[in-house]
Amino acid sequence: MKIKSVRGMNDISPPETASWQYLEETIVDVLSTYAFQEIRFPILEHSELFRRSIGNVTDIVEKEMYSFDDRNGDNLSLRPEGTAGCVRACVQQGLLHNQTQRLWYKGPMFRHERPQKGRQREFHQIGVEAFGFEGPELDAELLIMMDRLWSRLRIDGAMTLEINSLGQASDRARYRVALVDYLEDYREQLDDDSQRRLTTNPMRILDSKNIDTQKILADAPRLAEFIDDTSRVHFDRVCGLLSAAGVEYKINDSLVRGLDYYSKTVFEWVTNKLGAQGTVCGGGRFDDLIEQIGGKPGFAIGLALGMERLLLLVKAMDVLPDSLGKNVDVYLVAVGNVSEEAFLISEQLRSEIPGLRVEQHCGSGGFRSQLKKADRSGARLALIIGEDERSKDVVGVKFLREHREQEQVDRKRLMDFMQPIFI
Ligand code: ATP
Ligand code: MG
Repeated sequence: MKIKSVRGMNDISPPETASWQYLEETIVDVLSTYAFQEIRFPILEHSELFRRSIGNVTDIVEKEMYSFDDRNGDNLSLRPEGTAGCVRACVQQGLLHNQTQRLWYKGPMFRHERPQKGRQREFHQIGVEAFGFEGPELDAELLIMMDRLWSRLRIDGAMTLEINSLGQASDRARYRVALVDYLEDYREQLDDDSQRRLTTNPMRILDSKNIDTQKILADAPRLAEFIDDTSRVHFDRVCGLLSAAGVEYKINDSLVRGLDYYSKTVFEWVTNKLGAQGTVCGGGRFDDLIEQIGGKPGFAIGLALGMERLLLLVKAMDVLPDSLGKNVDVYLVAVGNVSEEAFLISEQLRSEIPGLRVEQHCGSGGFRSQLKKADRSGARLALIIGEDERSKDVVGVKFLREHREQEQVDRKRLMDFMQPIFI
């Protein structure tokens, strides 16, 4: 019996890893141009951290967390998202005292959901969090930055930015009362989940995909009417800055997001190219969370980008660079008892032509079979060293992708010959 991976937790292997590296490098490259720096924090945290931050009655905490007692009896959870751990780390490390932070993280997250396209139990996010910025500029900066990223990845045409304001906690408390008051009259007509949420987390009902529930919601009180002036002014300014920067957006006043800690600005980028799992990136302001986790009151805003969905999208749009699958520039064919010479050549190539990717044939194999491997490797050319070449002090050069005569190059001239080809 073979042992298989855990359901919903996937391996990522070559050549797929090249696509991941390309996405990660491009993202980090863009984030760096906005002066964001990496932070790393553990994958395991005390379950209490997630209960307190994400909220006890959210889907994540109620039914999706991987929690267990460790050998000391501490209740721990695999992180279902990054924000809670990031804030915990910043508070613990004193990174929020009289200073601002622009941070990003990347890594695996774990949620016990039903696996399907674009939804796994282990999935990967790159997250961005900024601390210490009260004004709407940071909200706008994050959105402008991601807009630039979508352009860099050539998926801007498929992404729609939806934004909303959740106001302050006190606004939402008043709204919740009004919403429940309205929905109570329709309790029996609501879907099961929404009936349950009526007492636990009524604002999540706005998220319901159920058609009948949506019809009832059409005439429900709107959150926008409960939002105080400060939040209103803040939101208008975010919208104004986006328009001035030429970033398109859609105000969606049903957008509430699945976690409890948001206030004021929230947003999602959605695409119609991935079916039901159409949200690629989401986030918002979470000023109150710092205090909830034991820090001094502060300001915070962030977002998380789902890497699997991003990868599905760039594949669906066929915008990955052609060069991605190729990982070899030069294949060294070594026939016969010439290993010492072969190592000298390939090591010299790596030293003299920085970044050159050399695959040296190791082990036995005849000329023909090695040349086949060279071709399959995607290399631009094969260097050939056999006993004959060694005795003549030459190296054979065979171009694999262009019509060019095979030649013999003097061993001493080999680097001079190779350099102009690859630089
Ligand atoms: P959804 O509504 O699709 O469940 P979410 O609101 O739970 O998403 P967030 O907690 O906002 O998602 O996480 C940010 C991003 O992480 C999502 O927009 C999505 O791209 C990705 N993501 C979330 N859960 C999963 C999952 N189980 N598998 C793959 N990607 C996920
Ligand atoms: Mg979810």
